[in-house]
Amino acid sequence: MMSIPMEIITDDAELTRAGFHWRENLGVLALACTPIEQEGFPNAFSTRLGGVSPMPEDALNLAGFNDDSAENIYENRRRFLKLFPGDWTLAACWQVHGTDVRVIKSLEDANPSPGALGETIHCDALTTNASRILLAVKTADCVPVILADSRTGAIAAVHAGWRGTLSTIVQNTLERMSKEYDTQARDVRAAIGPAALPCCYEVGQDVISAFQQKFPASEHLFNPTREGHALVDLQRANREQLIESGVAIERIHTAPLCTMCRNDLFFSYRKEKRLRGRVGRLMAAIGRR
Ligand SMILES: [Zn+2]
Repeated sequence: MMSIPMEIITDDAELTRAGFHWRENLGVLALACTPIEQEGFPNAFSTRLGGVSPMPEDALNLAGFNDDSAENIYENRRRFLKLFPGDWTLAACWQVHGTDVRVIKSLEDANPSPGALGETIHCDALTTNASRILLAVKTADCVPVILADSRTGAIAAVHAGWRGTLSTIVQNTLERMSKEYDTQARDVRAAIGPAALPCCYEVGQDVISAFQQKFPASEHLFNPTREGHALVDLQRANREQLIESGVAIERIHTAPLCTMCRNDLFFSYRKEKRLRGRVGRLMAAIGRR
């Protein structure tokens, strides 16, 4: 069995400062945002550790039915859910790098067809104010963002790759929360999870140009490398969108972990696709007690 690296069991000052801590149960390891949890919102950003998938071994692959057996994925989800004591219903969607937000009104709504978690519904963000529902987005390098409104109890989970970031999905989600639940940005806390960071994530001219066109002042997000290429900081882009929408900077917690540098801990599409062909999926989940 793949063991949990020693350095993460010991205290990690940088992680603590960022507002995160590790949670472990029976070999399943996940990152949790401490202040969001303290306000009554259990949450977890999964790692690849503690599962049953051959990716390459003991991997906690939580989605991607083309790359892994349903049996493995369901067992991994069962293990992941054990990080959340009590009775929870998981809700997810079929992510398409779009901007649609799925509003979940009730427990029945969360899981319309048994076992499917609503994954037939195309969207890239979910929101609810119902308790006992775990909203989950799936990533492997893309940026997962969770939102919690301590005043109304509304929560959201957002999948923001470069396309989602470009189309300001995190701002769309806040707007939807405000419309559905009267959420005000000043009451919101956000956690931006592990993703491909600007140490590793190089994009081409198509992405650079698309951002330049939509956000003339986005040059600072890019660090040029070779001709027509640059390293991009999507965590920062999403943090800046949250701030622009009115979320206080001190209420935004950013996990200082790169999925490409820490391929031992996280799945990385960019690192593993060419290497193995099949890539596991992480989950970022948040619920309301
Ligand atoms: Zn990196």
